[in-house]
Amino acid sequence: METFDYVIIGSGSAGSVLTNRLSEDAGTTVCVLEAGPRDWHPYIHLPAGFIKTFHMKSINWAYQQEPGPYTGGRSIYAPRGKTLGGSSSINGHIYNRGQRQDFNTWAQMGNRGWGYADILPYFRRMERRVGEGEDTYRGRDGSLTVTTMDWKDPLCEAFMEGAVSLGIPKNPDYNGAIQEGVSYCQRTIEKGLRMSAAKAFLHPARKRPNVHVRTHAHATNIIFEGKRAVGVRYLKGGRGGTPVEVRASKEVILSGGTYNSPQLLQLSGVGSPELLKSHGIEVRHALPGVGEGLQDHYAPRSVARVKNIRTINELRQGWHLWVEALKWATTRRGLLSLSPTMVYCFWHSGETTESSDLQLTFTPASYKEGVQGQLEDEPGMTVASWQQRPESRGYVRIRSADPFAPPIIQTNYLTAELDRRVVVAGMKLARRLLSSAPLAPYYAYEDFPGPKVQSDEELLAAATERGTTTFHPGCTCRMGPAESSWAVVDDQLRVHGLQGLRVVDASIMPRMISANLNASTMMIADKASDMIRGKAPMEAVKLAS
Ligand SMILES: Cc1cc2nc3c(=O)[nH]c(=O)nc-3n(C[C@H](O)[C@H](O)[C@H](O)COP(=O)(O)OP(=O)(O)OC[C@H]3O[C@@H](n4cnc5c(N)ncnc54)[C@H](O)[C@@H]3O)c2cc1C
Repeated sequence: METFDYVIIGSGSAGSVLTNRLSEDAGTTVCVLEAGPRDWHPYIHLPAGFIKTFHMKSINWAYQQEPGPYTGGRSIYAPRGKTLGGSSSINGHIYNRGQRQDFNTWAQMGNRGWGYADILPYFRRMERRVGEGEDTYRGRDGSLTVTTMDWKDPLCEAFMEGAVSLGIPKNPDYNGAIQEGVSYCQRTIEKGLRMSAAKAFLHPARKRPNVHVRTHAHATNIIFEGKRAVGVRYLKGGRGGTPVEVRASKEVILSGGTYNSPQLLQLSGVGSPELLKSHGIEVRHALPGVGEGLQDHYAPRSVARVKNIRTINELRQGWHLWVEALKWATTRRGLLSLSPTMVYCFWHSGETTESSDLQLTFTPASYKEGVQGQLEDEPGMTVASWQQRPESRGYVRIRSADPFAPPIIQTNYLTAELDRRVVVAGMKLARRLLSSAPLAPYYAYEDFPGPKVQSDEELLAAATERGTTTFHPGCTCRMGPAESSWAVVDDQLRVHGLQGLRVVDASIMPRMISANLNASTMMIADKASDMIRGKAPMEAVKLAS
């Protein structure tokens, strides 16, 4: 049986960063197991290919959530990347770190070294920011290129003017000192191509002789000797493939993401004893928090019909698309270099005293109802609005002992009363933004939720009927002190009560942050790499309070 120092399960946002950092020591061997294929598909790299990879089962786990109490009986689609780079290879490229208080809250929950001043050096170390930003906050010589959307669209400009007319200031850098305000979005795009975690971190590391990346390697169990994780069992080629075991002389690191990491722990006998026994799985280690606490952002998308201007809906049709394809081929710019979202707006709902609790995005396009990611034929513009820090929590639980059965995903969106109020407030703000004076020349009428929907109850009903995930699930293997019944890992990301096993990915977040999750997931992995290597943490940044 082959033995490596570290076996990493999953080559996604976290796994890619870890592979790079751990293999910097030439004497350290790292094996990465990835269930999906290599990231060769051109749609991964073309920014607008997002619309295609969204449903592409060869590189996407394509999960379905369970219907929840506030999803109107709908089972919401839950894509996840299944290729080198994981979800960073199919995501919407937005780079958004979150607010200072998000991470200070993690520290207050008992996680030493995770306050904002502690984690900021890691955000900086990874980043190559091209564009505005103060050096206190931004990195300039890391491997992850972050640029600002360079398509200056008149509808986007009018939307931002509309925000300003409502008292929302322009903010040149929402990843700087303050998140609040409106601006074009920042993206992990370089020269018109996606900068996935694989591109920034994994592929450079693969050139090292001490790195062994295995694709089509679906991990089915963590192998234990007593309470110590000593290796991983996987099927080469996926279901029905050849069983293989690899050993880890130092550690097994689980980076399978928010859905698959708790699933693999449960399949390996780590989790709630009742759940494991109900599926005939022997309990290796009782840890009731595994899979519990799932959080995600839930977004209704408000749509207005547009007049007097061309939107993306028309640009992707007929000969326009050929012109755009030529433009991308020759200049790496234009429609095919765009992200699904173009403008970001952070503001208050008025429902809480905490800093901005609403995130709104603007796109000069509209999408087919019920067919996520597919553009409509008619011109439209869309504002998605969501609550930044929801309180509702759900779970991820195995459906059966079959490692290929998709896990049960119950997000429980809007079950907390505060969440319902803030989501309704977000829809009201979206309506005010779309009908602001600067957008008036282009605004034809409100299509969704529609003018008949006025009261809070009606808005909530509309949110229930049409809201969707923003693809930010986290918090299913939460970091916290051993005495917290919900905690799965400690603040060094070691699984409580076990040895030789860490979880390093979006699942360890103890509480949802005010952001999309890719940036912070990579930060988590970068910080974890220092812990694993026994290095001192980077010096905390001195910030004015
Ligand atoms: C459609 C979509 C759009 C998004 N848009 C944005 C955005 O614009 N900005 C942003 O910041 N965030 C966005 N996100 C979220 C962000 O990309 C994720 O939060 C982040 O990538 C999670 O990183 P991770 O390392 O936790 O998991 P992942 O990146 O999902 O990596 C997990 C990896 O583990 C592998 N794996 C899982 N189980 C096994 C197994 N049993 N054996 C072997 N391998 C396994 C998976 O195939 C995958 O490669 C989006 C996500 C999606 C899906």
